[in-house]
Amino acid sequence: MKRVLKNIFINTTGNKVRLGEIHFTGKILEIKFLSGEIDWSEISTIEKKNGFLRNLNVPGSAGSIDFIDGNYNLVIPGAIDPHVHFDTPGFEFRDDFEHGSTAAAHGGVTTIIDMPCTSLPPVTNGKNFELKLNAVRNRSLIDFAFWGGIRGNDFCKTIDIEKQIYELIDSGVAAFKVYVISGMDTFTDLTYDRIREVATILAKTNIPMGVHAEDKNLVVTRRKQFKLEGKNDWRAYCAARDIEAEVTAVSEIIKIVRETGVRAHIVHLSSGEGLRKIAQAKQNGISISAETCPHYLFFTQKDFENTSIRNYLKTAPPVKFENDKEQLWNGLATGNLNFVTTDHAGCIPEKEKSSGNFWEVYGGIPGVEHRVPFLFSEGFLKNKLTLEQTVNLLSTNVAEYFGLTSKGKLETGKDADFALINLWKTQTVNSTEMHSMGKYTPFENIKFNAIVEATVLRGKTVMDKNKESEEKTGYGQLIKIKNI
Ligand SMILES: [Zn+2]
Repeated sequence: MKRVLKNIFINTTGNKVRLGEIHFTGKILEIKFLSGEIDWSEISTIEKKNGFLRNLNVPGSAGSIDFIDGNYNLVIPGAIDPHVHFDTPGFEFRDDFEHGSTAAAHGGVTTIIDMPCTSLPPVTNGKNFELKLNAVRNRSLIDFAFWGGIRGNDFCKTIDIEKQIYELIDSGVAAFKVYVISGMDTFTDLTYDRIREVATILAKTNIPMGVHAEDKNLVVTRRKQFKLEGKNDWRAYCAARDIEAEVTAVSEIIKIVRETGVRAHIVHLSSGEGLRKIAQAKQNGISISAETCPHYLFFTQKDFENTSIRNYLKTAPPVKFENDKEQLWNGLATGNLNFVTTDHAGCIPEKEKSSGNFWEVYGGIPGVEHRVPFLFSEGFLKNKLTLEQTVNLLSTNVAEYFGLTSKGKLETGKDADFALINLWKTQTVNSTEMHSMGKYTPFENIKFNAIVEATVLRGKTVMDKNKESEEKTGYGQLIKIKNI
């Protein structure tokens, strides 16, 4: 049945919006504009917005049409988070697809791409892809694709890495993940030489290679030394995984990209210097891209002094310094960083975030629910990003990079995936209201000047703050990417 999302502001270019409505079924049929282009500054407060609406004579939609009232919020294409760990199957004592996908829908996210390394078996071949798909089937509220992975454990005589890679490409994975350093026994890291081997194979395809880039040699050597000296606090952890560790790995990966021509992507970049290397390489025509996450854009190592969030803030790589934060924001604005992801990785905090020995604290933040309001609040509303850039970083750029051809844009023919964003109301982050399994966040008590009011996936609400959603977990579908 045809439906209409009415009373919405739609971003056109820059900070311009138009009042409009979207006609859709599962797909977008038509976008109608009911006002000319206006600048955001003309509706940036509730008073200004009401004034604008009073002066405008908006024709009502025909009465018999099934409609969703957008309540004069901003509509964006459903956000896409291409870096999450939902842990199904195998690590469900930390999080699972029901919780993760529900949290995502509450965060305006309609599609995620799940990492291959935090499930058992990991997604390293065609058979394991099917096992994961069977485990996830009927359990996701939102659409999903999978990363494939290439792990050190599989470099042995009996396993043909290239064959496994092609099996996964046939299965429709979005990209391949490798680690320069990994903390997981079930998904070990690769030497630079092995990454080069993998890159040579992937370079024959169009599929990206995502890299966790911190130099293993540097990190392990320092960690050993610190542990010998009995140093087990956050300072030692951060000193072991410092800017140099990231920059060294990024530089090695750039060399590999230059040699092989693979499409490489640095996940969760944390440092300004790492970004500078990437920007330089891009300028030289090297096919490298990068993402960063809200925690790297908001926190610094000073925040580890705050004991109420110290353990919650632990990630790998760790957050860096003021200067890095600034440069990362700058990278988002200039396009040297391609998108913002969360690296959503939760756990039960009482079990794994409570140790006094920082080496033993689980590293990861369940952030999928907070990314959209965060980027609107801290990026757009603080004038670090335009409205258009914000939407691109949350959705459009991600869809384009990973080949999610039906997603990422408000455009006739695309999936009717939307998030309604209220930019005229504030919220204070309260972890007890989170929907992931582990309810904790370093953003506790932080005020966001943006709220996700509702999320629509393929024409059906999967989250509405004011009423029950139309669809439940199980509605989400696998997206297979065509990559050859
Ligand atoms: Zn990750």
